[in-house]
Amino acid sequence: MKPWQKSTYVSEEKTEEEKQEVIRGEVKIEPKIEKEEKPEKRYICELCGASFSYPHQLRNHTLGHLRQEERRAEAKLKLLREQMKNIS
Ligand SMILES: [Zn+2]
Repeated sequence: MKPWQKSTYVSEEKTEEEKQEVIRGEVKIEPKIEKEEKPEKRYICELCGASFSYPHQLRNHTLGHLRQEERRAEAKLKLLREQMKNIS
C-alpha cells in the first residue's frame, strides 16, 4: 500500500501539493490550446482588412503601411521636382 496513507499529516500535505500542481497545469495548458486551435484575430487593419491575434502584430503591420506610404510620397515628390525642373 501507499506509505503516506498511514499518517494523516503527510497525506494532507501531499494531496495539497498534487492539487496545486493540477490547478497550475490546467491554468497554464488551457489557454495555450485555445490559442493554437482557434486564434482570436480581433485586431484588424483599417487600411487593408488584414486581421491579427495580437496588438503588436497589427502595430508592426500598420508601421509597414506607413513606411510604404512614405516611400510612395517621396517618390511622387521626387518626380514632381524633376518635372518642375523640366518646366522651368
Ligand atoms: Zn493592412
